[in-house]
Amino acid sequence: MDQDPIQITKTYLPDIDDYIEYLRLIWETNQVTNNGPLVQLLEEKLRIYLDVQYLFFVSNGTIALQIAIKALGLSGEIITTPYSYVATTSTVIWEGCLPKFVDIDPETMCIDPDRIEQAINPQTSAILPTHVYGFPCSVEKINAIAKKHNLRVIYDAAHTFGARYKGKPLVSFGDISTLSFHATKLFHTVEGGALITNNKELGERIAYMRNFGHKGKEKYWGLGINGKNSELHAAMGLCILPHIDEIIRHRKYISELYRNLLNGTNLIIPALPPLTDYNYAYFPVLFNSEKDLIKILRALTDQNIFLRRYFYPSLSRLPYIKDQPMPISEDISRRVLCLPLSHDLNKEQISRISKIIKGNLS
Ligand SMILES: *Cc1c(COP(=O)(O)O)cnc(C)c1O
Repeated sequence: MDQDPIQITKTYLPDIDDYIEYLRLIWETNQVTNNGPLVQLLEEKLRIYLDVQYLFFVSNGTIALQIAIKALGLSGEIITTPYSYVATTSTVIWEGCLPKFVDIDPETMCIDPDRIEQAINPQTSAILPTHVYGFPCSVEKINAIAKKHNLRVIYDAAHTFGARYKGKPLVSFGDISTLSFHATKLFHTVEGGALITNNKELGERIAYMRNFGHKGKEKYWGLGINGKNSELHAAMGLCILPHIDEIIRHRKYISELYRNLLNGTNLIIPALPPLTDYNYAYFPVLFNSEKDLIKILRALTDQNIFLRRYFYPSLSRLPYIKDQPMPISEDISRRVLCLPLSHDLNKEQISRISKIIKGNLS
């Protein structure tokens, strides 16, 4: 029992000497922020790696969502998913709009496209779904609905780094997609995020908006905010990006081990999404009941294995949301756990975790 604790995720830290090399560059130029050379280099490398046209590095994934809502000039109601991280909902309210939840498809855990149209009314301005766990939403159906009703689409793509759907980068759908590069995410810059769009004019708005609306030193394009990120954060991204394929490969290996070891139990393990090059960002499992989940959470904690309930509670249960019951999202959020997944877990640890789970299932 004297084993090292295992956390749900472990931040990947690159070789410290790689980071110090970038620090020396920063010390040489004395430029620490304000769209410096490392921020520009990271953006260029991310555009190539993610295979997208316009990408803007910002200070976190939450401000990315806020800027997306502002850049599209949204108001009124935004149709969104109740099954995501809190930022998907809180940013809508923070920007003065109302989140209108549409329940999820229990298979994909993403917004159910067949329930979207009945939620549209004259106040609706946009759809904001999440590709939860990196599982693709029904992008074709959502696109068709948005077109028909003249709505904008923002994808919260915080979990999709590197994932592809039908060969296309998952971050290339919608008017804007947003990423988070928080330290708990697959690819990170300690804190950070990005907005992605294929629309040049929208890209220009985003570029102004993340930098106070500055157009040169003394002129202003319009209203902006401080969404910039720094050279030190960009340096972290530049150190990690060359290792990302190897990180994803290892996570795939760990995920396959779990899948084999937990096979034949009454756990529901979502199948890998079809037509998708998955990024192995998460390994969610569904229990038969919340009672089972709590028992196993306790058994794992006793063995120094610490999980978090991604995602609980359903966002329809937030204290500032009234009268929007979402039975599927609420049911799933009570029964789901993400198992530990990181670059440095080994086979023995996965066996240990799986054994504890199997031994405590009812
Ligand atoms: C992490 C996350 C965010 C917020 O990103 P930050 O970089 O932490 O601000 C938004 N949406 C989802 C789905 C997330 O998982």
